[in-house]
Amino acid sequence: MPIQLHDSLSRTSRPLAPAQADGIYRFYNCGPTVYAAAHIGNFRTFVVNDLLRRLLDLEFPGKVKHVRNLTDVDDKTIRRSREEGRPLAAVTKEWTDKFHADCAALNCLPPHVEPSATGHIPEQIDMIAALEKRGHAYRTDDGSVYFKVSSFPGYGALSRVKERELRVGSALAGKPQTHDADEKEDGSDFALWKGHKPDDGDNFWPSPWGQGRPGWHIECSAMSKKHLGDTIDLHTGGVDLLFPHHENEIAQSQCCNGTTFAHHWYHSEHLLVDGKKMSKSLGNLYTLDQLKEMGHSPAALRYALLAGHPRKQLNFTLDSLHAAEKALAQLRTFRAALQPGGTADPFAPALAALQDDLNTPNALGIIFTALHAGPANVSPAAFDRILFALGLDLSEPVAPKADVPAEVTALAEQRWAVKAAKNWAEADRLRGAIAALGWTMLDRKDGYSLEPAKK
Ligand code: AMP
Ligand code: ZN
Repeated sequence: MPIQLHDSLSRTSRPLAPAQADGIYRFYNCGPTVYAAAHIGNFRTFVVNDLLRRLLDLEFPGKVKHVRNLTDVDDKTIRRSREEGRPLAAVTKEWTDKFHADCAALNCLPPHVEPSATGHIPEQIDMIAALEKRGHAYRTDDGSVYFKVSSFPGYGALSRVKERELRVGSALAGKPQTHDADEKEDGSDFALWKGHKPDDGDNFWPSPWGQGRPGWHIECSAMSKKHLGDTIDLHTGGVDLLFPHHENEIAQSQCCNGTTFAHHWYHSEHLLVDGKKMSKSLGNLYTLDQLKEMGHSPAALRYALLAGHPRKQLNFTLDSLHAAEKALAQLRTFRAALQPGGTADPFAPALAALQDDLNTPNALGIIFTALHAGPANVSPAAFDRILFALGLDLSEPVAPKADVPAEVTALAEQRWAVKAAKNWAEADRLRGAIAALGWTMLDRKDGYSLEPAKK
């Protein structure tokens, strides 16, 4: 059975198959903006995309080409670099490395190509020049270049932005520009190239329009063209990217290349906290590191993120991580009980559920029904295949983190306060009191942690 996946453009579930004769499945996934740690909402999207990647790998072995970009120049990255007085490249390298480490901890397969916006300036300039030549773009006095939305009749097909809204520009005006605040707000036209402003510091490149930097949307059009060609099989991202980002990508790519940009569009839904989208601007976020410090494992987070249907919003709770740890423990016990000669595959329907629009709740339900039926004659290979598809790595059981007694926490709080007051004698005395209760207080610059004393 081929993978069936909801397509945001046609609003139907459609089978996935490579369109081109070489049989390569071309998959482009919008990547992170690297100016801070990605939060677990971002990782919901990347884990869902990893599930998709794994199903594609099973369906088209050795024939999948997965490209995911790094947005390493935009308003946010530049602002961060200026705030910290560090070069843009130093900031984006730090957060790219962190993103990679978190992806690895969450068992996400690396994409085959991970192009960066700053590494593809000439490709973006070429594309803008082609759009200008074909009458789809115009220059403004400040050295910027804008895409002329009215030159592309297909605009709005993905997001169903009403024509009327486009005309008065309310669709764009009412929507916060999450990446780049376009200087010009004339209707729905959007920036392809941004003329250099003092706020950009030394982050600018030469171009036929003078010094400046690319707009956000053009990077994905240019990088997918370079690494996957004019037409791709599947383009994905979180639902907030549908408009304007993906609508604009379609306009740029189709006007430049004169052909269909993507055969299939997929958008996964958001992770919420208390009913609100988890986001940096709302400040209601968790990072993987924060959860790890609380004693939760990355595998539990991955499980919890997969437990909800990817096209439905998921409300995040810490309880869901406890439930995930329990589920993982049951999977580990079951795996350990499997005998090499087993031939039965009770997990085939779970794989079919995943292939049916990534129905993870159904798949997990089927898996646990099989677990309750017991391990007799179950094929280890069949179990490992469904675990591979979900990306659940059971190899490292996590040691439960000991609960710190309230008495010890109280002493630690006291010690932290007297240390801040530079009362070293009292700080030493409290360290001894904490040790006498069997705990070690580890000091860092910005806080402390407590660990059971080594015997
Ligand atoms: P960004 O780093 O802001 O470009 O976002 C990276 C990815 O995370 C994009 O595909 C977004 O759509 C996605 N995203 C942002 N916030 C959330 C959220 N709360 N839940 C799920 N995905 C999100
Ligand atoms: Zn993109």
